[in-house]
Amino acid sequence: MALTTPGEWLDRIRALPRPASGRLRIMNVCGGHERTITHAGLRKVLPDYLELIPGPGCPVCVCPEEDIHAAVALSLTDDVIVATFGDMVRVPCNAPRREPRSLQAARALGGQVVPVASPGEVLALARQHPGKQVVFFAAGFETTTAPIAALLSRTDLPDNLLLLLSARQTWPAIAHLLEDGAPGFDALIAPGHVATIMGAEQWRFVPEAHGLPTAVAGFTPGLILAGLHAVLRQALDRAPRLDNAYPQCVTAAGNRRAQALIAALFEVTDAEWRGIGPLPDSGYGCTATLAERDARRHFPEVFEAAYARRGEMPPGCDCAEVVLGRIRPPQCRLYGSACRPESPVGPCMVSDEGACRIWWSHGVRP
Ligand code: SF4
Repeated sequence: MALTTPGEWLDRIRALPRPASGRLRIMNVCGGHERTITHAGLRKVLPDYLELIPGPGCPVCVCPEEDIHAAVALSLTDDVIVATFGDMVRVPCNAPRREPRSLQAARALGGQVVPVASPGEVLALARQHPGKQVVFFAAGFETTTAPIAALLSRTDLPDNLLLLLSARQTWPAIAHLLEDGAPGFDALIAPGHVATIMGAEQWRFVPEAHGLPTAVAGFTPGLILAGLHAVLRQALDRAPRLDNAYPQCVTAAGNRRAQALIAALFEVTDAEWRGIGPLPDSGYGCTATLAERDARRHFPEVFEAAYARRGEMPPGCDCAEVVLGRIRPPQCRLYGSACRPESPVGPCMVSDEGACRIWWSHGVRP
């Protein structure tokens, strides 16, 4: 059977009537979704009653400032190297003028910071520097947590490889919005990558407990349009349910092997989200199995000092409102003025998955 093309999905959507409510606000929870939606220009070609809202889909954007403060301090500690995914190097935090505001600034002061593209590179780095402690500062959602768990499950790891884990689960942010009473969206396209690991069923609470149309969607324009068609169809039928519009990769239960790896090494904990505060059961911490590799236990003074700055944000930064889909990037007071990719104030203007960065790189100006 021939695959449905993006143009055919668009035609199918356009052939459907406007919902009785007059509009349908559809949130996505994935930087990859937002990138495709924006760069493929889907907002311009879809019917005007569909509003596509970027939501909490960027793990770097929700990493709390105190973890970045701790990573900066560790990078400036003798015989410590901080390894982290590239985006995180440039993420700024709120710091007095005389202190480094990012890992990049710490590196300019002599801090040991190495950007990496994969957990395997961290292992190689630790083996290259047996006389130093290599701290893997890892922020990510479940799709990143699984390969981190795979790395940590190896039996041949050098003793000098430590972990500063800032991993989050995706669904609690949506639960937080829905339990807030005024979530600001009427339907959800759930993240296909996360669902590949954790299973589509993880999102069933959205239609069943909150009555919102929901579809797991993939990442090409056609796959996203298939997800949008599914939730629009549900809205028109007034029959919210969970559709899997990405069956090519996503099953109901997900990847049980990856889930078992995560569960064996990490425990679900309450966790801070930058600018949002603590969300119950939304993060991962190291289990006792990993105690020897947990940087938070190795450097208690560094983390005590960092935690004292919990909740800090740069003045005027509206990243939390953008992350929660309550405003769009140009509505931030700093978008395009104080905050630009070359001089970012918040992480949403740094990360490839941040809505501000995506919208700016697509030419959206205040
Ligand atoms: Fe944050 Fe800058 Fe975006 Fe404002 S413009 S929300 S400060 S990243």
